[in-house]
Amino acid sequence: MDQHTVRSYRFATSRADLALAPGERIMAGGTWLMSEPVIEVRGFVDISRMPWQPWERTADGLTVSATCTIADLAALSNPDSDAFTPAERERWTALPLFAQCCHALLAGWKIWNVATVGGNVARSFAAGAITSLFAGLDTVAVVWTPDGGERRIPVADLVLDNGVNSLADGEVLRAFEIPERALRARTSMRKIALAQLGRSGSVVTGRRDQDDRVTVVITAATLRPRPLVYPSMPTPADLRQDVLDLPDFYTDPLGTADWRRGVSAELAARVLADLQEETA
Ligand SMILES: Cc1cc2nc3c(=O)[nH]c(=O)nc-3n(C[C@H](O)[C@H](O)[C@H](O)COP(=O)(O)OP(=O)(O)OC[C@H]3O[C@@H](n4cnc5c(N)ncnc54)[C@H](O)[C@@H]3O)c2cc1C
Repeated sequence: MDQHTVRSYRFATSRADLALAPGERIMAGGTWLMSEPVIEVRGFVDISRMPWQPWERTADGLTVSATCTIADLAALSNPDSDAFTPAERERWTALPLFAQCCHALLAGWKIWNVATVGGNVARSFAAGAITSLFAGLDTVAVVWTPDGGERRIPVADLVLDNGVNSLADGEVLRAFEIPERALRARTSMRKIALAQLGRSGSVVTGRRDQDDRVTVVITAATLRPRPLVYPSMPTPADLRQDVLDLPDFYTDPLGTADWRRGVSAELAARVLADLQEETA
């Protein structure tokens, strides 16, 4: 759609270019920014030309740039891609979770190929598929602050409410750090939507680390990510009760709070069974 209040459009190619003038807004893929009126915005600063590799290996895992597209992230799960060596694929057992979570997004061709992981997290919808993935993998967001510094915050803590996060004015998501420990985990993901192709009503990710620690994260059903962490496999009854006791299940046209609570408990039970099977 046309944004009638916007008077300027510039590309950022360096960190200095990310300093926002009053009324300017960061644009990544632009898929959300161009989908509804943003009348408070006077100018866009397009970050698609920032010289950031979509992703890179690090000493402790994998770093994904904010400008990596959802399509490029999902492609890392493809066992036939040459992104990783066979040894890395064997070691990083969590890689299939990338595509599983990306497909939880209700995405046509444009969103799949143009929307970025940073844009998805920054939008901070409860049904944010990339938020589900990153929260499930204990991922830390690297935030560039307007004074030239940076801060780190777990993605699960960055998102505060449906469409609300803790980014301050002028802060930019630079990247997401996925720790080696999480990449080596056994994982599972289950989701449900009221309509076959509808937005997710609940997404549950599960992770069993090599030291047996288990992390189950509820997203889409709750206003913000709700991780449940256990030193070892919880009993199905304990997990069920912990899910039922979570705050923040909400009602909207895509599902009632009670339905979201009930299906999340059921999905969590299935995730737990998956994690048990994997090592049986
Ligand atoms: C038809 C439709 C269906 C959708 N369905 C879903 C769905 O099921 N689940 C879901 O989660 N989302 C859904 N979305 C929204 C989707 O998440 C966003 O369109 C997309 O993820 C945004 O990515 P983008 O790169 O295009 O961001 P943009 O549209 O460019 O930006 C989105 C917001 O993030 C900010 N931003 C972008 N990058 C950064 C950064 N690096 N640092 C700081 N701020 C930044 C922008 O300023 C803007 O406020 C849907 C959107 C549409 C149009």
